[in-house]
Amino acid sequence: MARTFDLAIRGATVISDGALPRDVLIRGGRVAALVEPGAADADEEIDARGLYALPGAVDAHVHFNEPGRTVWEGWERGSRGAASGGTTTVVDMPLNSLPPTLDGVSFDAKRAAAERSSVVDFALWGGLVSADRPPLRELAERGAVGVKGFLCDSGVPEFPSLPGAALGDALAAAKATGLLVALHCEDEALVREATTAALRQAPRDLDAWSSSRPVEAERRAVARACAAAKATGASLHVVHLSSAAALDVVALSRSAGVDVSVETCPHYLVFDDDDLRRAGAALKCAPPIRSSREREALWEALLGGRIDLVASDHSPCAAESKQAPDAFAAWGGVTGVQSLLPSMLSAALRRAAGTPDPAAILGFIAWRLAARPAQRLGLWPRKGRIAAGSDADIVLLDVRQKWTLEPAALETRSGQSPYLGRTFRGLIHATLVRGRIVYRDGRSVADPGYGRFVRPDRG
Ligand SMILES: [Zn+2]
Repeated sequence: MARTFDLAIRGATVISDGALPRDVLIRGGRVAALVEPGAADADEEIDARGLYALPGAVDAHVHFNEPGRTVWEGWERGSRGAASGGTTTVVDMPLNSLPPTLDGVSFDAKRAAAERSSVVDFALWGGLVSADRPPLRELAERGAVGVKGFLCDSGVPEFPSLPGAALGDALAAAKATGLLVALHCEDEALVREATTAALRQAPRDLDAWSSSRPVEAERRAVARACAAAKATGASLHVVHLSSAAALDVVALSRSAGVDVSVETCPHYLVFDDDDLRRAGAALKCAPPIRSSREREALWEALLGGRIDLVASDHSPCAAESKQAPDAFAAWGGVTGVQSLLPSMLSAALRRAAGTPDPAAILGFIAWRLAARPAQRLGLWPRKGRIAAGSDADIVLLDVRQKWTLEPAALETRSGQSPYLGRTFRGLIHATLVRGRIVYRDGRSVADPGYGRFVRPDRG
């Protein structure tokens, strides 16, 4: 008897342990098999000839702010942005929602909000604000991918940082509960000192803002985080690294047996301080956008495998929060969930200009934006790959086509993005989550609440 399948994606070049022309057969929301083109029948078909099939991106770092600051973003708009940009799983940070995700009750509230509205699958980070173990146990039991903490001011009053000895105690508590620790690494004392110096100069512009958050503050904080991870045995994930300067410390720690991974963001790889001056507060973030020299060093580290993954750190706000009277008062955060995969693919293709076959570039994108984040957060092999048994989270795209991100196409709520007006190479034709199309030809087509919660499997 012939085997039956729900869906066959026919004729695409599938990025999965290489690049091969395969039909992707889907049953029950999962990839059932990759077969020679035309080798099997299915109830429905998608003609994907001429397209690449890539695993959907797993965005390890977004702030959708719901419940609480939903006017800044929210699960429905944020997840529609993710789907249209080829991201099929988002991992939401414990702040700037209200309440912040610090215990079982707030975790349940966040999960319920996402289950009502998200069109893509999601996982959740909890917060690490003290060494108090009961709330950490609640987060671990409920399936948090890990907990996030700050070595400097978090930017919101309800989410305290981990000063002095508090860091080691908090890491020990996270280790005891089996939770991965994500840290925002900027040294508080050095930032304060540099801020005082910067504010002495007029005007309070974005150059002054950048000089208030020097590379050395990041390097010093990464060193402190690695030392605390070594002392406690905690697993560490350095979020949004802006400069390659800290990577020597990371490499030394790894060779000493510390379990540490590193994330960077498209905005540090695509923009430099000239762009910051042009784009204004839309590109304000912490750590700040650096020089073109720093950007090139970061690319070298990413291509050389010294950076594990790229995530958007999508952190929008209400438009007026970016229009503050001076750069220091404006909200820091970049709107970027929709442009994660497009911006990285375009930038990587441009760098490889002259290479006739883009498959290697697509493999690099699939590794750094899908496979590696899924692995690090315990979501692999269910997420992050196109292979038998995995969820059928698939992006179909044409690398020959160019397109421009117009304001009307921006799905996310703030209406601002430093990527508006930018032309990308690689047009996404469709995004599938668990075998169902959630975005197709410019339109988000999933019902709110289609997205499901994904728990890490650390077995
Ligand atoms: Zn963030």
